[in-house]
Amino acid sequence: MSERRVRVRFAPSPTGPLHIGGVRTALYNYLFARQRGGDMVFRIEDTDSNRFVPGAEEYIIESFKWLGITFDEGVSFGGKYGPYRQSERRDIYRKYVQQLLDAGKAYIAFDTPEELDRKRQEVENFQYDATTRLTMRNSLTLGEEETERLVAQGEQYVVRFRIEPDEKVTVHDMIRGEVVVMSDILDDKVLYKSADDLPTYHLANIVDDHLMEISHVIRGEEWLPSAPLHVLLYKAFGWEDTMPQFAHLPLLLKPVGNGKLSKRDGDKLGFPVFPLQWHDAQSGQISSGYREKGYLPEAVINFLALLGWNPGTEQELFTLNELVKAFDIEKCSKAGARFDYIKGIWFNQQYLVRRPAEEWVPEFDKILRAEGIISTPEKEAQVVEMMKMKVIEYKDNNNIVHKRNISFVADLWPLCRFFFQAPKEYDPQDKFVRKNWKEDTADMMRGLMEKLSLIDDFTVDNIRTTIEPWAEEQGYRPWNAWRVALVGTGQGPDMYELSAFLGKQETINRIESAIAAL
Ligand code: GLU
Repeated sequence: MSERRVRVRFAPSPTGPLHIGGVRTALYNYLFARQRGGDMVFRIEDTDSNRFVPGAEEYIIESFKWLGITFDEGVSFGGKYGPYRQSERRDIYRKYVQQLLDAGKAYIAFDTPEELDRKRQEVENFQYDATTRLTMRNSLTLGEEETERLVAQGEQYVVRFRIEPDEKVTVHDMIRGEVVVMSDILDDKVLYKSADDLPTYHLANIVDDHLMEISHVIRGEEWLPSAPLHVLLYKAFGWEDTMPQFAHLPLLLKPVGNGKLSKRDGDKLGFPVFPLQWHDAQSGQISSGYREKGYLPEAVINFLALLGWNPGTEQELFTLNELVKAFDIEKCSKAGARFDYIKGIWFNQQYLVRRPAEEWVPEFDKILRAEGIISTPEKEAQVVEMMKMKVIEYKDNNNIVHKRNISFVADLWPLCRFFFQAPKEYDPQDKFVRKNWKEDTADMMRGLMEKLSLIDDFTVDNIRTTIEPWAEEQGYRPWNAWRVALVGTGQGPDMYELSAFLGKQETINRIESAIAAL
């Protein structure tokens, strides 16, 4: 058989914001398609009108734009296999439902929800299948004429897939190998509902994958239980030769404990589970997003790529293009991948420090403005340069203090107010202040001020070469008290750097204020 063109699709249902697990699925599809020179299709599966959420489709598109995951075809991108929104493909599905009915591979059923409920109460583990279908109200028990009469009369019905028992169904999965189930465990799934004249997910998904010539279906593990049914549908249509190859990706697991990652884990531990912030119009609730939290898209991509796949080497940092080369779908793990969000923060730090200071400035400037500080891009870039390698302390939800490197632009602010604001007070309880401001300090600082005032060109080097010999000569160590005066506590960069940044006048003013106050 000639090699088939690789065509994959990402096919979300617009039921809300895209979960981070869905982003990982899209990413793996993208890597696979790009690696094999194939096409990446964006399809919207909106046949469940009850679960449709306005804005979800736009949200998903914006998320991928931000992340740099691109599509070749689909909703908003166009292409010759469209329309790509399932709600616009009713006529197509109707035809294929009819095809199964005509071939006797599907049948019409009239059972009302109440009747089905009653059955479920009567019969333990009730399943609509080869044995029970003969006790139900459908075209097999009512006969053709009666069925036609009821349909013509406008009675609501569904079309069910007729699954025959005793058949071995094999799913060939690129990650899991052969998954075999007996058809007996499957029920006669609903494929179409007359009530809204729409197919269910299963039918629309199979018909579209076929018509859009999808070669590989790469999706989350939660869809594995549906795969045998999908295989049977391909067979029922006579499409087994072009059935896509499946790959069911490992689940994303909670950072701690058992079970799959949920939004609650994120809320509890303080990390987003959505790529972008989402505003729920109904509840008014706002859920945080990676973008708004200050993550860089390349960090999110790198982090997600390694949740369920690894290159088998020590390499951890990958650009998107490097991932395209290195990714191997068959090396994905079967076992779930723990969502180590701390590692996500680490990735962000790695990418952020590699960015030149000027690229931090727009974000940093926003934060400063919110604090009422107006500065210049040059000054802000200087602060970033001085501070970006610093370590910060933070508390977790149990109030335990941890340390980590600056990993977000927003981490800077608490560490750097003194660059922009003179200390308002010198806390006498502050250990650093107490220890470094003694009785004779004021005199020493007056001497320092005098020396500083003589420097014409107030550069780091000029300050150093003036103050170092002077300190030596006087037998003083002025640095800590100098820091108290400029910062108000024991933080900040080298004194020469800080003074040069503040400028001569501001440096002297701050020393004067400290002498007066202390
Ligand atoms: N519409 C399904 C979803 O929301 C697609 C599943 C599949 O990829 O087959 O994930």
